[in-house]
Amino acid sequence: MFEYWDTFKNGVVDTFNWELRQIVFDVDWNQNYFYGLIIISLVVMLLEVFFPWRKNQKFLRRDFFLDTWYMFFNFFVFSIVLNALFNVSNLIFSKLGLDWSSWALINKDQQSSWWVILIYFILNDFVQWLTHWCLHRFNFLWRFHKVHHSVKEMGFAAHLRYHWAENIFYKPLKSLAILLLIGADPEQAFVVHFGTILIGHLNHANLNWSYGPLKYLFNNPVMHLYHHAKRLPDDRLKGMNFGISLSIWDYFFKTSFLPEKIDANEVLGFKGDEEFPESFTSQITSGWK
Ligand SMILES: [Zn+2]
Ligand SMILES: [Zn+2]
Repeated sequence: MFEYWDTFKNGVVDTFNWELRQIVFDVDWNQNYFYGLIIISLVVMLLEVFFPWRKNQKFLRRDFFLDTWYMFFNFFVFSIVLNALFNVSNLIFSKLGLDWSSWALINKDQQSSWWVILIYFILNDFVQWLTHWCLHRFNFLWRFHKVHHSVKEMGFAAHLRYHWAENIFYKPLKSLAILLLIGADPEQAFVVHFGTILIGHLNHANLNWSYGPLKYLFNNPVMHLYHHAKRLPDDRLKGMNFGISLSIWDYFFKTSFLPEKIDANEVLGFKGDEEFPESFTSQITSGWK
């Protein structure tokens, strides 16, 4: 029992130190997730300032600070606990004699080549699409996902406004798929990490972009605005446009939706959101019943 506790404790300390080292620039530039997030946020924020879709939307829109806090909480505060739990689960697996990498379909030695990164990105995105679909499909999951959908004015920071419990739903399925296919996260996964954050920030940004014909490949601000629409079409009552980085899954599984006339001021939220708590603490403690 002590061994598990020690592993958890070490995980907390190691992750905390690792984050501190990022803040004081004591890590390689491509491992600096802290400043990476800040730079991407500033770039997308400037795009919103220069090319706003909803011109009437204030720069410091409703919940701007709440969403910005969510961004750092989910990525740097809660991740300390999450990493520690991940270390404990690895310890349990190794005690059980499970070596996932031996099951992997792709040889570990081939890692870091560009196509492994590409497969990783596509697989990762599909698993997240599926998890997101489940978050809407099943009531007990939707209760947590409501936090993300409680945003009423869209801006880039809404991207990481989500209940911490969502990490727990996304992570195991993602890790399992990656482990079975590749054996471990590829070394250059930072490309995927930052690419995914950039696309996610853009999807929530106040920008009228849909990337022309590439809209069938990439999720985009227009498509994702309708993911957040309060009013749902009769045949899409459990939601639509579940894509994370790619939109292909929604076109393939016929879960995409865009009205003929796009409205930048589409009302966002969900049925009954007037009753939804507004403060950070009451939001992250909601969802359990
Ligand atoms: Zn959603
Ligand atoms: Zn969203």
